[in-house]
Amino acid sequence: MPNSLKAKENPKKQHQPSQLNTMQGGIYIGLGSNLDEPVQQVLTAIKHLQSATEIHVVAVSNLYKTPPMGPQDQPDYINAVVELKTALPPYQLLRFLQQLENQQARSRDTERWSARTLDLDLLLYADTILNTNELTIPHIGIKHRAFVLYPLYDIVHNKSLPVIGQIGDIIKQLNEPQPEIINPNKLDV
Ligand code: AMP
Repeated sequence: MPNSLKAKENPKKQHQPSQLNTMQGGIYIGLGSNLDEPVQQVLTAIKHLQSATEIHVVAVSNLYKTPPMGPQDQPDYINAVVELKTALPPYQLLRFLQQLENQQARSRDTERWSARTLDLDLLLYADTILNTNELTIPHIGIKHRAFVLYPLYDIVHNKSLPVIGQIGDIIKQLNEPQPEIINPNKLDV
């Protein structure tokens, strides 16, 4: 499997070591898009995360082209995973992610699992476990979705993650092939 890409910090935003020390690490966000130039949608969302003062992007996975879950009469998705440190607690981070989705013209009046310009999922927040109507952490789909597991593996390799364990082992149990990796310069998706 490929190595993860090292995150490029926004040169206009430099976190001081003292700020980084106060941020919570071990946070993973899943990104997905299958409308209106999905590669650009995902790359734009990553740039917005990198520009946010409350967020430090630690690592970015490869981009993957994956078949849709649920209704099949929709285009393939582009998926990625990003590792963060942040000063935002879980619910504030969720709201921040929802604002980013809205900024990128995400419609919420559609059927579950239907096409979308941007979907941002809070996959893991260190060792936090939450189960409320608004927020479930770890995200309910992590262990069952190749489009989450393969990009997550790019970043964490064989490190054991709190609450869910080793991604390599979960990928073996899932027994689904690795989705196609997309070169961001190849825009025909
Ligand atoms: P989606 O259709 O995937 O964008 O689902 C969004 C809904 O899932 C929102 O109402 C969120 O409050 C809820 N949700 C629950 N847990 C999570 C999570 N870990 N990450 C993102 N959304 C979540």
